[in-house]
Amino acid sequence: MQIFGRLTVDSIEGSKAHCTCACGTKRIVSIYSLRSGNTRSCGCLARERTASMGRGNKTHGMKKTRTYKAWESMRRRCFNPRAVNFENYGGRGITVCAAWARFENFLADMGECPDGLTLERNDTNGNYEPSNCRWATPVEQTRNRRITATLEIEGRTRVLGEVCAERGVSAHLVHCRLRSGWPVNDRLFMPSLRAGRGA
Ligand SMILES: [Zn+2]
Repeated sequence: MQIFGRLTVDSIEGSKAHCTCACGTKRIVSIYSLRSGNTRSCGCLARERTASMGRGNKTHGMKKTRTYKAWESMRRRCFNPRAVNFENYGGRGITVCAAWARFENFLADMGECPDGLTLERNDTNGNYEPSNCRWATPVEQTRNRRITATLEIEGRTRVLGEVCAERGVSAHLVHCRLRSGWPVNDRLFMPSLRAGRGA
């Protein structure tokens, strides 16, 4: 017998799990969303959270959560031409599926955002939709970790990705600068002048 949060798996058919929630509700959910931890109840957890947050937000009580902020900034990047990073999203035709116009639908598809993760797309040229999105380590961190080049800095040999993480700058960007012959000094670690570049 497998238990995920409040859900107990009764049977499995293909990629669907027939579950019974601790509150008694039966629900069919995808095995993937159980394994990833996205789905942990029939929906009663989110409802209880809403109730416990009480006044202030009549719709879902989640406006202060990371999940809501992820939804909001996704929509801003894609739909608001004044957003700092619009050029990399809406500006190049990336959009959000119609169902995710409502936060409740986004929450139902994605589950709550786990700590330390952000909303990432599998295909970065693809849209924001259930099949292309997951909660994951931010792309920039992954990219920084992949860059294992070293450099001499302050008399020590250090891994470029680590130095860049400390300085809050894209290792990919710094790596490109090094390859085009920039000397190692503070200018090398300047963030890009074009907002949102490298994201
Ligand atoms: Zn339940």
